[in-house]
Amino acid sequence: MEIKVTKTQNPKVKPDPSTLQFGVEFTDHMFIMDYTAGEGWHDARIVEFGRIPMHPASTALHYGAEIFEGLKAYRRPDGEVQLFRPMENIRRMNSSADRMCLPLLDENDALQALTTFVELEKDWVPSAPATSLYLRPFMIGNDEHLGVHAVKHATFYIIASPVGSYYKEGINPVKIMIESDDVRAVRGGTGYTKCGGNYAASTRAGQRAEEQGYSQVLWLDGVERKYIEEVGAMNVMFKINGEIVTPALTGSILPGITRKSCLEVLKSEGYNANERLLSVDELIDACENGTLEEAWGCGTAAVVSPIGELAYKGKKYTVNGGKIGEVTQHLYDTLTGIQWGNKEDKFGWTLRIK
Ligand SMILES: *Cc1c(COP(=O)(O)O)cnc(C)c1O
Repeated sequence: MEIKVTKTQNPKVKPDPSTLQFGVEFTDHMFIMDYTAGEGWHDARIVEFGRIPMHPASTALHYGAEIFEGLKAYRRPDGEVQLFRPMENIRRMNSSADRMCLPLLDENDALQALTTFVELEKDWVPSAPATSLYLRPFMIGNDEHLGVHAVKHATFYIIASPVGSYYKEGINPVKIMIESDDVRAVRGGTGYTKCGGNYAASTRAGQRAEEQGYSQVLWLDGVERKYIEEVGAMNVMFKINGEIVTPALTGSILPGITRKSCLEVLKSEGYNANERLLSVDELIDACENGTLEEAWGCGTAAVVSPIGELAYKGKKYTVNGGKIGEVTQHLYDTLTGIQWGNKEDKFGWTLRIK
């Protein structure tokens, strides 16, 4: 694929790495590629970062035709830059596109887009400890009329934002509220896709939880409100009586790449780690009888995020004395070690940028 690169004449001053906030500052450029039915993807280009013109009737604005991905470029100790399992993000984006009737990307072209873009923005990958360049590929449907149907025009973008350490004050366990009213996704719906609509539907519960001092909600399945699904923008794992459990991918859960990597690390080291249905009753029993040993969320932003307290139906349960557990810490050390190039990548998960 040919990518036309037009470099900006006005490069920005790079932000101070110690004050970076998530997704606030953006790099000098962005990647754009258009899709037209019958023609396929065309006009791959990298241009100056800036506003995008949109027709007021654009499908994305009215019918939520939008999907996205999130991954990071990491600065290694030797100064080189690497990505973590980028093909997993590309495949997941195609799975989201398929569900949302958006056009699929050619996997190799999408990888070329990512690597070419990161190579151009390499100087934006910060080198302070635990900082990275967050990459946000996204796709919108943008037919310019109000008819409802599978889109004939779409655009794929990649933007990037330097991000600071998720844990500026050390890893502090978070308080999570189990949500029993709103649901995020249902079987047969879009729960397994990374689409903006899932976030729109889940904001209200998150906001209510925050008002009560909780950082995120833990979702139950949308049909019976019986089985544990995931936390806000993270998957969730528990250590119950020696067994590590994460909810099985039933279609309403986002198949996280951090989740998958945690499972692969744990299994390679002989842990008893299982994907299965986990009911909220089983979890609360484990809280009450003291067999819940650890709980943590996992996702690209925080890598792993220990859970120190769970609240359900007005009752509060402390997990592991409110401290980070051994397995949680081990996963954090292993994954961040591989991502930032401080530990040997024996799984072959990283991809160096030229
Ligand atoms: C992105 C996301 C995750 C985590 O996926 P990773 O690939 O590990 O970053 C989990 N849940 C939801 C709802 C998400 O959007």
